[in-house]
Amino acid sequence: MEKKQFQAESKRLLEMMINSIYTQKEIFLRELISNASDAIDKIYYLALTDDKLVFDKDNYYIKVTPDKANRTLTIRDTGIGMTKEELETNLGVIAKSGSLAFKKENESKDGHDIIGQFGVGFYSAFMVADLVTVTSKALQGDSAYRWESTGADGYTIEPCEKDTVGTEIVLKIKDNTEDESYDEFLEEYRLKSIIKKYSDFIRYPIKMDVTGKRIKEGSEDEFEDYEEEQHVNSMVPIWRKNKSELTNEDYEKFYAEKHYGFDKPLKHIHISADGTVVYQAILYIPESIPFDYYSKEYEKGLELYSNGVLIMNKCADLLPDYFSFVKGMVDSESLSLNISREMLQHDRQLKLIAKNIASKIKSQLQSLLKDERDKYEQFYKSFGRQLKFGVYSDYGTHKDLLQDLLLFTSSKEKKLVTLDEYVSRMPEDQKYIYYASGETNERIEKLPQTELVSEKGYEILYFTDDIDEFAIKMLMTYKEKEFKSVSSGDLGIEADDKDSEADAGQADNQPLFDYMKDLLNDRVTKVKASKRLRSHPVCLSADGELTIEMEKILKAMPN
Ligand code: ADP
Ligand code: MG
Repeated sequence: MEKKQFQAESKRLLEMMINSIYTQKEIFLRELISNASDAIDKIYYLALTDDKLVFDKDNYYIKVTPDKANRTLTIRDTGIGMTKEELETNLGVIAKSGSLAFKKENESKDGHDIIGQFGVGFYSAFMVADLVTVTSKALQGDSAYRWESTGADGYTIEPCEKDTVGTEIVLKIKDNTEDESYDEFLEEYRLKSIIKKYSDFIRYPIKMDVTGKRIKEGSEDEFEDYEEEQHVNSMVPIWRKNKSELTNEDYEKFYAEKHYGFDKPLKHIHISADGTVVYQAILYIPESIPFDYYSKEYEKGLELYSNGVLIMNKCADLLPDYFSFVKGMVDSESLSLNISREMLQHDRQLKLIAKNIASKIKSQLQSLLKDERDKYEQFYKSFGRQLKFGVYSDYGTHKDLLQDLLLFTSSKEKKLVTLDEYVSRMPEDQKYIYYASGETNERIEKLPQTELVSEKGYEILYFTDDIDEFAIKMLMTYKEKEFKSVSSGDLGIEADDKDSEADAGQADNQPLFDYMKDLLNDRVTKVKASKRLRSHPVCLSADGELTIEMEKILKAMPN
């Protein structure tokens, strides 16, 4: 049987691709700059093994030039260029990636900075241009060639003049339509901001001629026009730098530049992971709560870069909910991107990174707790509630991770304590971790239910947050000690002489108790003599799983 090859209606395919892969038009610049960077990288890699080639960094750059009058945008690079054949195959065949092939051929040379892999990015130029002209002179070629296309109608190639090795791409920017304006892609300011956003960390300089007005030298109020070549991108990302080279101010500056928050970060975490997944990250624990933090509008997530190129603004999968307050970025070369490079193909690596990040954040918080208690308490006042939500959610699966980070006010000195601190100073005969719930610490202190426990010299944790008791119910125990509400029926405190008093009181007053129960009817299950009261005449206690405070909260919740 004859085996046939699939045919593709390439015109339609191209049209579909151009208009449906990318969610934003501005992405075209990221794609063309990434290609230019790859082209320079290729010379760099060749120079590693070819003595005749010298890679002098100063000679390699990318230049972006808008021309409003002619409505063109030019992207020029001093990279490896393309021969006639390469223009045919790389730009004439959809999904053919010369860069992927190069990467495979040069695997031994650690060529993983090359960005291209899918062979479609170039066509994104047609989102904003109706004519694309590529003039290229290859490093290993004879003469220069011009490739030209209006998109779906196909392309032409012809020889042309070009003195220097490299590629120049001229986009004829589309005319504005009724619903769409393309003028922004000719605006110096806008182009600069697109470059900053996506391509700030391309390893070669991205240059632009900028014009402006400035005060004339030597004068106070006289202005002059100027035009100068500006270097737009920062090139070396702070996260690729060595921690020892960086100061606290550098990290704070990056936090502000990236608009992670208006505050200062309380703590930063700089990770350079070289294990099963390779990634770098700079994470921040903010000092104050973002205004929308405890609202539905708040979006958690970290910026995600692949090889220094921004892929996603807020990648939510990188952060568990209980650490949703963390800000920052992750850069990894081992991500499998989808074809638009806006999303990830598989989330296996991402899951590994996320897991890794969560444990780093945890240990950072732990050391903050250990070494900088004041800072930790400040953090906890803002975000402690989120940690408790973490303990409570997902049936407490994160409890091991989070329980050591919890703090509660204790009856002793009215200070915040960890569960570990509480348990480690429990007297021998104390069986449970006692807690009392209420609206404020002052109110809890006045609760009659706390009297017996306090008299025994046992410490009580004060639960003033709605979530406290629910979270603790998920923990069930800490270091094998069960939690016990001071208002629960059985406090588990050894019988003493008060016991017999109470037993006698029970017998003597049975008729009174029956009468009270009659009056209160369904509002209480039982009226009995209490063994726990000291100065107060009466208190409420609960017998079942739910304590009185929990019942109150549940009743207050909308159904
Ligand atoms: P990808 O970058 O994913 O390979 P593109 O569609 O962006 O796909 O580009 C296709 C191919 O065209 C690249 O792999 C590269 O071989 C070639 N190419 C594109 N732009 C340039 C350039 N500026 N210089 C040299 N080669 C280029
Ligand atoms: Mg590309």
